[in-house]
Amino acid sequence: MRAAIFEKPGIENLKIMQDVEQPKITDHDVLIRVKAAGVNPVDHITVSGTQHKYVAKPLPHIPGAETSGVVQEVGQHVAGLKRGDRVIVHNKVFDGICDMCMDGDEMLCRNGGLIGVITNGGFAEYIAVPEKNAFKIPDDMQWELAAGIPVTTLTPYHALKRAALTIDEFLVIFGASGNTGMMATQFGKKMGAKVIAVSKDNWIKDFGADYIITEYDRVAEKVDELTQGKMADVVLNSLGVQTWENSFASVGLNGRWVTFGGLTGADVKLNVQSLYSKQIKLIGCDGGTRKEITEVLDMSKGLKTRVWKKFTLDEAKEALQALFAKERDGRILINVS
Ligand SMILES: [Zn+2]
Repeated sequence: MRAAIFEKPGIENLKIMQDVEQPKITDHDVLIRVKAAGVNPVDHITVSGTQHKYVAKPLPHIPGAETSGVVQEVGQHVAGLKRGDRVIVHNKVFDGICDMCMDGDEMLCRNGGLIGVITNGGFAEYIAVPEKNAFKIPDDMQWELAAGIPVTTLTPYHALKRAALTIDEFLVIFGASGNTGMMATQFGKKMGAKVIAVSKDNWIKDFGADYIITEYDRVAEKVDELTQGKMADVVLNSLGVQTWENSFASVGLNGRWVTFGGLTGADVKLNVQSLYSKQIKLIGCDGGTRKEITEVLDMSKGLKTRVWKKFTLDEAKEALQALFAKERDGRILINVS
């Protein structure tokens, strides 16, 4: 099969090879013919080898954390899926037997990791995964939306659930027009919140944002105006240190500050007095549960994404390089077949 593959870390080392061995399935696996793969920062980090947390295994390695496709073959003991089913891949490797897994938190599995990092991923014509990682999608769901469900869509949904966002609350989303931000905006509306999008892009209004703040250095002041002094109930910010001060200052009484990333740097200075006197909760999140994937699929009607560029599998390297382009304005996808 054709696949994007690298032998040693470095984006420049990613090559397209025509004769990579097709993955074999065991009795509990499904073989998927990949349709669309989302391009995610995790893929960039895995290929470039810049973070200790994401060391690619095995080498040579096929990256790709966000995969959608059609079931081609099923193992003997696969009961819930059949050839021809349209599926997405939940990209968590988990053992199902540790205390975290038994609590339903398989993304925190003590013996786990990520498909595309500790196993080969979806930048290839075929991928084999356990049946428990493959989820059937609605018949009318577009591949470009489907590819992003297990990471880009699930992660902000899980974060808003953990923040216990409820109806009529003020939700402030930093980077609202980013991959996860546009999904958080839509879930915020589905959950009945008043969404304040922090973004330079006006099109985020089409995703349901009630208000847009374009000046990143004046967010707290603008939130103060929009909420008439109440400030935000929930602030979602995965942009890291550069926006920390303004985002923490935007949280109101009994508010929740929630994150699943630190794009511009992870070390921030925290004023403990503000934290306790306002009873603020700081909440960290990583991924989401399989149960939540089914919830996201159940409420996916009307959900949309904004695609900036589509690449072919042969252009996988260019697709990764485009991820941090200044002019990027929406998702990057690889149309594999
Ligand atoms: Zn586990």
